[in-house]
Amino acid sequence: MRRVYFDHSATTPVHPAVAEEMYRYVNKTFGNPSSVHFFGREARKAVEEAREKVARAIGSRPEEVIFTSGGTESDLMAIKGVAYANRNKGNHIITSSVEHHAVLDNCKALEKEGFAVTVLPVDADGMVSPDSVAAAITDKTILITIMHANNEVGTIQPIHEIGRLAREKGILFHTDAVQSFGKIPVNVDELLVDFVSISGHKIYAPKGIGALYIRKGVRWLPISLGGGQERKRRPGTENVPGIAALGKAAEIAMETMADEAARLTLLRDKIIKGVMENYSNVRLNGHPTKRLPNHVNFAFEFIEGEALLLSLDLQGVAASSGSACTSGSLEPSHVLLAMGIPPEIAHGSLRITLGKDNNEEDVSYFLEVLPAIIDRLRAMSPLYHKVSDDCETCDKTWCR
Ligand code: PLP
Repeated sequence: MRRVYFDHSATTPVHPAVAEEMYRYVNKTFGNPSSVHFFGREARKAVEEAREKVARAIGSRPEEVIFTSGGTESDLMAIKGVAYANRNKGNHIITSSVEHHAVLDNCKALEKEGFAVTVLPVDADGMVSPDSVAAAITDKTILITIMHANNEVGTIQPIHEIGRLAREKGILFHTDAVQSFGKIPVNVDELLVDFVSISGHKIYAPKGIGALYIRKGVRWLPISLGGGQERKRRPGTENVPGIAALGKAAEIAMETMADEAARLTLLRDKIIKGVMENYSNVRLNGHPTKRLPNHVNFAFEFIEGEALLLSLDLQGVAASSGSACTSGSLEPSHVLLAMGIPPEIAHGSLRITLGKDNNEEDVSYFLEVLPAIIDRLRAMSPLYHKVSDDCETCDKTWCR
């Protein structure tokens, strides 16, 4: 059976060149970067070279990049690190309702410690308005944390505009760029951000490695203690193979990003056209144009997202019905609900996220197998009837 992997926002396969780089540090160059001998020095060199590559990719200085275990830890370190370091200045944090749980749950935890959190609403496209950020700022605001691109619907936020507001008011600004890094430019000076979270496994490096950019001179405190690594900002013996892999993956992403974005946009738009023109009762979730080049999210009415996923899987197509973390739960996605999508429609969402190995044939295959699945699942729904000429006079407005 043909297998089509359309779930690159959940994770990506490791790029062969990245695996090769990684293997070198699993196998031959195994030293501890803190050791002074040859083996240690070789490992240290790998770590610092990777740091330079990541820094180059985001337009920062190498010493402003620290390696973490992934996006979740980077978010935690940025948010709690700013909160604890700036407690005497204020206790107010601004975030949005469409953030990843790695951000939302840490903000919630801080609320229990006496911090006040404003969770901004989004519009129907999942977009945060800079005006709403401006209106939420108080003289107690110490941190704004708004993601660069959304993992569920792909909407790209106006980070530069929010960054300008933050700068004007002297407020620290963190962005979770886990989904955008490697797909669209993430430049710390252009975006006007002070903290950026990135994750290896979304850009063809392995799971369990990520990085946090911390702008030089900002007030921030490390969360974990116990060693001098990463200049005491993230103690623990460095994951050298993972770090080398992230450096290589970042380097490859920078070399290929422009061409890949153009190629994937064409494939993405073919999917959007193929679905929107051929089905009734379907909507495109997320901003129509300000969205990641590889990202599509539909809501099919009268369909259960999990049933759709399983049916696609039986045909060899791997997609998702929201974020990987919320798939498997019966709760509708908090992102879709925040966008004002009714729960029964949010349940029928399908996320397709493309990657480097996808091609025209994958898209054609998906568009070929989809109609029979949609028809079969809708035939099982007591609420669905096919749109026909009778619809003109029908009084059941719920299906339009
Ligand atoms: N932030 C966003 C926007 C994500 O999509 C994810 C993962 O899906 C994370 C954070 C967590 O990253 P990691 O899996 O590296 O911990």
